[in-house]
Amino acid sequence: MTLEIYENGRKIIREGRVSWFGRTTQEELGTLVSQYDGEAVDKFLWSEEYEKLKPLEQQLIQVFHPGVDQRVTSKTYMPNRLLVGIRKWCLKRENLRLTCPRCGGTGHYSYNQIDGTRCFKCSGWKYILPRLSKKWLVLVADEWNNRHNAE
Ligand SMILES: [Zn+2]
Repeated sequence: MTLEIYENGRKIIREGRVSWFGRTTQEELGTLVSQYDGEAVDKFLWSEEYEKLKPLEQQLIQVFHPGVDQRVTSKTYMPNRLLVGIRKWCLKRENLRLTCPRCGGTGHYSYNQIDGTRCFKCSGWKYILPRLSKKWLVLVADEWNNRHNAE
């Protein structure tokens, strides 16, 4: 896999197939700025997504996957995918979650054709996570370390 970064866009070449991002002709892309091959592509794309996260989101990832940003390979889940897993884990922990204020913890709300009665605020999970804060991160870290060391 090769990633080429141009002034006006980028191209990924994977097994001979080209994906264009930004512009769709070689002329429109402008000058080649940098090029990555193999695992360097994974590292670049991972870091790019990671850098776009809020600092507290990065810290949340670091609680569960310490130093993951330093050892990215093609098998490392992308940062947003890691966050999805982390949020699911937190939603299962009573002291980390809040009862969904929209459905009152039933997971159901008014009917619509697409979701039926599934509450869209909690997606039927019945719980939501509080806004990311340093205080909540401390709770999460404690909970994770307790469970982790117990297993
Ligand atoms: Zn709900």
